[in-house]
Amino acid sequence: MRGRAERVSPEQALRLLEEGDLPDLGRRADAVARRLHPEPYRTYAVDRNINFSNLCECRCRFCAFWRSPGDPEAYVLDTEALFAKIDEAVRLGATHILGQGGLSPRLDLAYYEGLLRKIKARFNILLHCFSPPEIHYMAGREGLPVRTVLERLRAAGLDSLPGGGAEILVDRVRRSISPNKCTTGEWLDVMRAAHSLGMPTSATMVFGHVETPAERVEHLARLRDLQDSGGGFLSFIAWPFQAPNTALAASGDLGPDWRPVGGAEYLRLVAVARIFLDNIPNVQASWVTMGPKIGQVALAFGANDLGSTMIEENVVAATGCVHRASPGMLRRLIEGAGFEARQRNSRYQTSAP
Ligand code: SF4
Repeated sequence: MRGRAERVSPEQALRLLEEGDLPDLGRRADAVARRLHPEPYRTYAVDRNINFSNLCECRCRFCAFWRSPGDPEAYVLDTEALFAKIDEAVRLGATHILGQGGLSPRLDLAYYEGLLRKIKARFNILLHCFSPPEIHYMAGREGLPVRTVLERLRAAGLDSLPGGGAEILVDRVRRSISPNKCTTGEWLDVMRAAHSLGMPTSATMVFGHVETPAERVEHLARLRDLQDSGGGFLSFIAWPFQAPNTALAASGDLGPDWRPVGGAEYLRLVAVARIFLDNIPNVQASWVTMGPKIGQVALAFGANDLGSTMIEENVVAATGCVHRASPGMLRRLIEGAGFEARQRNSRYQTSAP
């Protein structure tokens, strides 16, 4: 990493998160972003989120996307539909596919290997697929080590892993909102194995539900610690919990004082993450959940990437939160924030302007 300044401790990060002056936090985070990214541009991506299936037996309480076998809305994409989606994405300029499914007992490792091989045989596109809970689930289903599953998927065409399923990397929180999902240690073990194979990944956080500010910092500290030990996180992206249509919201467990994360709270988290995660090169803004304007403001609060156009997105959309953007719109947002705009791929490699 370029020019690292003195590190912020978890205790200092918690103070910044709880008491830091917002404009001052923005200035500090912006200084870190400009030190790490002195180039005159900020980035965006064109990709498509394809969910191979919505069958999932994990039943996370914050998720409105999953369906059980037999549900009229349950699906597994067939090859024709999958190819049509990728074909359209490529024509719209996509450089990669973010592919995920649920934790489905019906789909085995051989199915996913075949899927990746078929896509790679037909399209020249990077495959950024399978979050750690999916990899962990495949390993358990097949009775194989996580590393072996990753090696087989890589041999079939997998290029990198998305960092989904992290939510908050604190087991107290995970037991409350996603009790059937892999633990903090298991999520980190999948990432450690991927990084040891030279496979880059992103890291995520879903916040604003039952976690405390201290647990947000604990999450960030776990990511920073793993990155310190030779990790391959390319980026960090946080987005707020979207309550509508979720079992968690319906249960009342969020408490009477719960409020959705607003723009200021979101920007505070982005800024503290940029300041604290001094060893993760990129911080992405989440215009998909916060809207384009807050996404643009996040470029002055430590984010150096505006994320993707998301030609298709289903998981957040299942909560009723639907924002759409074209490459032109993302470029205008970046330029409006005072930077040149460059398209990047899932490896954060940029194209010529
Ligand atoms: S968040 Fe993922 S693992 Fe959890 S229920 Fe939804 S699809 Fe399944």
